[in-house]
Amino acid sequence: MAANPDDYRSPLDRAHQHTTEWLRSVPTRQIRPQKTADEIAEHFSVPLPDGPTDPTAVIDELATFAEPGLMAMPSGRFYGWVIGGTLPAALASDWLVSAWDQNSALRYASPSTAALEQAAGDWLLELLGLPSGCDVGFTTGATMANFVGLAAGRKAVLDAAGWNLDRDGLSGSPRITVLVGEERHASLDLALRYLGLGTPTPLAVDNQGRLSEAALANALDRVDGPVLVCLQAGNLHSGAFDPMRDTIRRAHEHGAWVHVDGAFGLWAAASPRYRDALDGIDTADSWATDAHKTLNVPYDCGIAVVARPDVLRSTFGVHTDYLIHDDHGPGDPWEKVPELSRRARGVPVWAALRSLGRSGAVELVERLADTASALAAGLRAIPGVEVLNDVVFTQVCLAFGTDELTRRVTQQVISDGTVWMSGSHWQGRDILRISVSNWSTDPDDIRASIEAVRHALEVAQTA
Ligand SMILES: *Cc1c(COP(=O)(O)O)cnc(C)c1O
Repeated sequence: MAANPDDYRSPLDRAHQHTTEWLRSVPTRQIRPQKTADEIAEHFSVPLPDGPTDPTAVIDELATFAEPGLMAMPSGRFYGWVIGGTLPAALASDWLVSAWDQNSALRYASPSTAALEQAAGDWLLELLGLPSGCDVGFTTGATMANFVGLAAGRKAVLDAAGWNLDRDGLSGSPRITVLVGEERHASLDLALRYLGLGTPTPLAVDNQGRLSEAALANALDRVDGPVLVCLQAGNLHSGAFDPMRDTIRRAHEHGAWVHVDGAFGLWAAASPRYRDALDGIDTADSWATDAHKTLNVPYDCGIAVVARPDVLRSTFGVHTDYLIHDDHGPGDPWEKVPELSRRARGVPVWAALRSLGRSGAVELVERLADTASALAAGLRAIPGVEVLNDVVFTQVCLAFGTDELTRRVTQQVISDGTVWMSGSHWQGRDILRISVSNWSTDPDDIRASIEAVRHALEVAQTA
């Protein structure tokens, strides 16, 4: 065998060293990247070298020349989009997953990763209060987890309408109506596009982006034929949760499949604090969430949960002679996701939950929300700062009088580099958005972040 185990030692040692330096730099470095992709490409976009390079030199080159173009996303002062950091056990376990190099499609082929993902899935169902008989699939993110839930739903509602999707495809099938709040996440449209379901029918929402129950009831009364209803747990801007129990019951009365996009907001279900706001969420048919957001595992990992394993496995399973398929019990990992060959991305979920325990997971979710409240309170106290949303979870939306000033403050905050927050547009106004998703944000970060916005406003006002 040409591989000598010692050949790995030096590049891995160097990678470890660079990793340690990177992690050590995170708390104090500027959050924004110091170079653009075009500037970084000046080093990397060269013709493919004619001959080999020593692996250790490759790692040194990579770490050295990539470093200035990295965003400090793992920082406690990074609040952009909805992006989590990485818990120590999750990151270290991800290294093991790479070293093990298991194709984690089949229980027979990779028993340990299958068992770990099964355990992680069971823990998630328990923590989030979802029915214990659900199937759990580990995807690349919530976009694909939405795709999984909606693919199962598409199959189930067409089946109920007497249409054989697998044999006959979508051409000529009954038209599926997809009902969803106007403020859905764009990835839902993407998933529906992948599924050939077109653009969904948007329903009215309230001033926090919550689906109107009356609008849903009206729409359901008017449709004829198969229906998918998508609810949202965690609005991208306000953090608000769509009403669950009554909307799900009503949708079910119309034979609809109900899917919940809870990319970050589904984690609220772990905390007794949010029990009332999410009441009835467990009665839906499928759910999507991310582990790389609230749970703080490294990129990438999403989670699809489906209440009907028979439908899910018939959607994504295939039977061939060369795959040794486990027909009994929990099913193979690849029957629950779109991929066949796959990374055991559920293993870092297991490690994160193992290290946190139930109390740690609940505390993490509540701490993120408390941090959002503390930021909102501190920022609201600054003259000229408006907090636009009811801060009910981890999201805060700010405005500064005019759209123009808000955009200037956003630019200033980002270029100062102490924090990173995204600009966006919500309910008719330009905003500066904060998403608290990093496990490591502490009171010093909160103080520094409030001060960073105050300073940016001052500079923008005098500019
Ligand atoms: C982030 C997000 C998604 C998409 O998740 P990815 O992990 O980026 O694929 C979907 N819905 C909501 C509400 C989100 O916040």
